[in-house]
Amino acid sequence: MFVDPPDYDLICTICQGVLRCPVRAACHHIFCKKCILQWLKRQETCPCCRKPVNPSLIFVMFKLSKSIGRMKIKCTNEIRGCEETFSLSEQYCHSLTCLYELIPCPYQGCRAQLLRRDLGTHARHCEHWSQPCSMGCGTILSHRNQADHNCYRQLRQEYEAKQRNHRAIAAALQRKMKRMQSTMAHMKRQLGLICESLEGMDDLHEVEGDEQGESSSSSHGTPSGNRNY
Ligand SMILES: [Zn+2]
Ligand SMILES: [Zn+2]
Ligand SMILES: [Zn+2]
Ligand SMILES: [Zn+2]
Ligand SMILES: [Zn+2]
Repeated sequence: MFVDPPDYDLICTICQGVLRCPVRAACHHIFCKKCILQWLKRQETCPCCRKPVNPSLIFVMFKLSKSIGRMKIKCTNEIRGCEETFSLSEQYCHSLTCLYELIPCPYQGCRAQLLRRDLGTHARHCEHWSQPCSMGCGTILSHRNQADHNCYRQLRQEYEAKQRNHRAIAAALQRKMKRMQSTMAHMKRQLGLICESLEGMDDLHEVEGDEQGESSSSSHGTPSGNRNY
C-alpha cells in the first residue's frame, strides 16, 4: 500500500499497522491513539515495556502525525487497475472519486456492484434506472418509457402547429383584404364611370334645353336637325 515500505518505528506494536493519530506514553513508546486507549482499558501497563501507563498522561504527536500523513501510498484499488499514488492524508478524498472504486449501483432495487468508471455504461442498461424528466414535466422516466417520452418535442410540435395555423389564418385574412381592396377599386372605377355618364347626360339635357330654347325662339325655315351637322 505504501510506495516505500514505512520505517519500523512508524509501526504500531499493537495493530502492526502504520501509526494512526500517534500518541506517546510516559515511557516514550508510541502507539495509535485508538489502540493504546483500548489496551489500557484492560491493563494500565505499556504493551512494549510493561511499565505502568497513566491514561491521562499520553500525548498526541502532531508533527509525527503530519509527516505520516505526507507518506506516499498507492490506491487500494490498485488490483482493479488504479495506478494513482497520493499522500496518506489524501486517501479519503481519492476514494470518493477513484474510478476503480467498487460501488453499489445507486438505483433503488439494483444489486449490482460495479466500478465507478462503469457506472455510466451500467446506467444505460440498468433496469432499475429511473430519473425525473430533465425538462421538469414531473414524469419519472425509466428505460421502458424513456424512448417514447419527449414532452419538449411534443410541446414544440404543438407550438409549431399552432404557429402554422396562425400564419395560415393571417395569410387568408390578407388575401381577403386584397380581394376587398380590388373590389373597392373596381367599384370606385364603376362609380367614376357612372358619374361620368351622369354628367354626360346632364350635358345632353343642357344641350337639349338649349335646342328647345333656340327652336322656340329662333326663326323659321331651317330644320332643327341640321344644326348638328
Ligand atoms: Zn495501532
Ligand atoms: Zn513502554
Ligand atoms: Zn484509485
Ligand atoms: Zn443497476
Ligand atoms: Zn418530460
